[in-house]
Amino acid sequence: MELKIWGGAGEHGRSCYVLTGEQHRIMLDCGVKKEGTGQYPLLDVNLIPELTAVFLSHAHEDHSMALPLLYKHGYEGEIWTTRPTVSQLELYFANWGKYVAGRNGELPYEPEDISALRFRILEEEASAGQWLKLDDGLTLQWGRSGHMLGSVWFRFQMEGQQLFFSGDFSRESALLAADAPGKPLSESPTVPNSSISATALSIMDNAYGMDEESQEQKLHALQQFMLEVLGRGGHVLLPVPAFGRGQELLVWALSTFPNQPILLERAIYEGLCQMAEWEAWLRPGSLHSIEGAMKTLHVHVPGSQEERLHLLEGEEPFIIFTTDGMMESPRARWYAERLSFSSNHAIVITGHASEGTFARRLLRGETEETYCETVQMGYKIHQGLDDVRYMLHEVPSRHTVLVHAPKPETNRVIVCLAGEGYLGLHSLQPGSILQI
Ligand SMILES: [Zn+2]
Ligand SMILES: [Zn+2]
Repeated sequence: MELKIWGGAGEHGRSCYVLTGEQHRIMLDCGVKKEGTGQYPLLDVNLIPELTAVFLSHAHEDHSMALPLLYKHGYEGEIWTTRPTVSQLELYFANWGKYVAGRNGELPYEPEDISALRFRILEEEASAGQWLKLDDGLTLQWGRSGHMLGSVWFRFQMEGQQLFFSGDFSRESALLAADAPGKPLSESPTVPNSSISATALSIMDNAYGMDEESQEQKLHALQQFMLEVLGRGGHVLLPVPAFGRGQELLVWALSTFPNQPILLERAIYEGLCQMAEWEAWLRPGSLHSIEGAMKTLHVHVPGSQEERLHLLEGEEPFIIFTTDGMMESPRARWYAERLSFSSNHAIVITGHASEGTFARRLLRGETEETYCETVQMGYKIHQGLDDVRYMLHEVPSRHTVLVHAPKPETNRVIVCLAGEGYLGLHSLQPGSILQI
């Protein structure tokens, strides 16, 4: 069997892995990289019509936005994913279109290639942890990966080999449930349990590279920082994606800073309402926190620009949640401009900021004169070093490819883990091929 990396290893973005056996050629994710006018996986268009199945781990653009290229180049099959993922894709396509147009780029596919996407819904065919036979020589199991609404990991049995793909994975979400991939919940129909531990290949999220901090440690640092800013009368701006850590940070902020006024942009509020509709993906008790947040009186969702200005110009400092995480949207920039006049205010970037984005330029001090403080303090939605150690014990594999971080960082992780006795780890890059 052979693994081809078409994107996603040794970099952040354009996740795309192709596994080829005798009978099957499957693809895991097909995303883009938010750099320049967008970078796409290194697709070999001659191989695309030969794909026998495609699997999508979640809706984020770095895993999904190149999928129309498959249909453009002759793929006629289906994409296996979850219902919440399908329901979020429309917004991601709209935003990706805006991102590309905003940089005078052109999409490499047409609207009809987007409408050509055909889905098969995992949870309608098998529940989490159950084995589902797709074809002779291809069986799968999926579980919730705790990274965003509808995100999953996959375990495959393909032509007698066991394969694992973590997708983007987090055990530390405050709201989302994650299923441990370690123990298969039911026995495989074709392979006895004894050989299940002998996974041939794992593709494993290590987006945070060497970072070993826990969510608790990160949130403690964020709390201290925000207390200081609010204490000096400054607003704290948290630019976040419409779906994902924004809702988690909102629920966290409500319990950490009781009575603190919060300004919440509608898109993030709507993300919260959407979460409430997918209880099966939440941790026990999360629905209660989400519904509480939706009803909290000191959470203001501005309906007009006038209201927004009125709130910002009042006496009290606000915690502000706006889209988007990399601050490319006009609204995020508008807030940054409003806050730029005083050194009391602060902007906190809580996720990845790609090269060339406004968030990255702010962090580097490359924007026009600004007095407000900009810091990067992460909220975990991926795996760091310690999470990888844990997963290596859960899913022991002959080969493990660590993905989602720049290559030099992945190299450091591999040196460190090899020193601790972990074997079979790989740091690869787009274009790499691994024989299994
Ligand atoms: Zn993701
Ligand atoms: Zn990702």
